[in-house]
Amino acid sequence: MVTPQSTVDSRYRVPWARRGSVLDHTDLAALTEVVQSGDPLSQGGWRTRFEERFRAHIGSRHAVSVTSGTVALELAIHLLDLEPGDEVVVTPQTYQGTIQPLLDYDVDVRFCDIDPVSLNLDPDALRPLLSRRTKAILLVHFGGYPARMDEIMALARPRGITVVEDCAHALGAAYHARRPGALGDLGCFSFHSSKNITTLGEGGMITCHREDWAERLERLRSNEIDGTFSSAPWPADPPVALPWMKYSADVYRHSCTGIRRAGTNATLSEAAAAVGLAQLDKLDALVERRRAIAARIDDVLGGYPFVRVPTTPGGVRHACHLYTFFVAEREIRDELIRVLDRRGVEIQLRYFPLHLTPEWRHRGHGDGECPVAERLWFEQHVNLPCHPELTDDQVRYLLDVLDDSLRELAGSVPRPSRRPRRIPCR
Ligand SMILES: *Cc1c(COP(=O)(O)O)cnc(C)c1O
Repeated sequence: MVTPQSTVDSRYRVPWARRGSVLDHTDLAALTEVVQSGDPLSQGGWRTRFEERFRAHIGSRHAVSVTSGTVALELAIHLLDLEPGDEVVVTPQTYQGTIQPLLDYDVDVRFCDIDPVSLNLDPDALRPLLSRRTKAILLVHFGGYPARMDEIMALARPRGITVVEDCAHALGAAYHARRPGALGDLGCFSFHSSKNITTLGEGGMITCHREDWAERLERLRSNEIDGTFSSAPWPADPPVALPWMKYSADVYRHSCTGIRRAGTNATLSEAAAAVGLAQLDKLDALVERRRAIAARIDDVLGGYPFVRVPTTPGGVRHACHLYTFFVAEREIRDELIRVLDRRGVEIQLRYFPLHLTPEWRHRGHGDGECPVAERLWFEQHVNLPCHPELTDDQVRYLLDVLDDSLRELAGSVPRPSRRPRRIPCR
């Protein structure tokens, strides 16, 4: 392992993930190979190999790399060909990047409430939101816990609704022997520094089965337009002096009859792709480490009846990108967060319900739209650091502090808790 000399001034003994992955000599070796090869540093063989390995891992027909998860989502949403008046159903419990591109479209966004166990879009809440105008569903596999895709796809397929999976947390997860990113229609991944693997800090991938979408994505990330063309012959044939000029000549023969979107340069560098390949080799070990830490936290929390720990059903493998649990009472939740922070455990709550953010309030959304998401967030939700960069000592410290804090708080649980308590699930 490369021992990082962090310049981040952390007062936390157990910090939140600055890096969600671990970089070691295999990543350095890959970088050395790229630098020494003399090959071009973009659009080369590393990117092709990374995409091929990624595609095979996910089980999708195509994988197209881009420069971030945000760009992946922007391009995926572009492929939906949204028209004014279309409806898009989205989850409120995700990072803002999942749905932010929709702010640029004149469409009706419907926030769908979440399942109180997984915090994923709830298929029962989804059904009544679907209409003849519903064009797409945007969901996240929250924290690496796969959404109930069988039920969601059973609702979407017969209605011709496109399902976009935000898989930023879900690399390494599994759903009945399949992978997020191959369950819906479009999968969007992030290789940001904090994610389950990283391509040197930034990077992303779009997976899909459709050939025409892969072709449009290929154009869009390479500064070409997404448009419709006719091959109306031009008056003069352009010269083709050398074989490589044939491409320009072919372009010259076409005329563009409609532009859907300008392209952009979203090329993942060769160095990033080479590290991505090396990281994929480690993916299972990295996710196992997350899962092992999560299992030990589960054990501690299991001793406290006022705490609810989400479990996963058989056939579902949680990638444990986030560790989330719920405390039955708001005052205890708030006090627990304060105590953990004082004792050096960094807590970040993921994520503020998006329908309550200023930009979505501005579009007419607001309080009461997703009662489960709101109640869980404002009253019960806690995330703990859970990532492979944590040392064994840090994990031990986290568990001790958590156990101590909960024991103290259990003493202060107000009177009602002495009655047998049902932890509210809805
Ligand atoms: C990180 C993240 C993104 C954005 O990915 P970037 O690579 O940082 O642009 C999108 N959605 C979710 C759920 C994320 O966690």
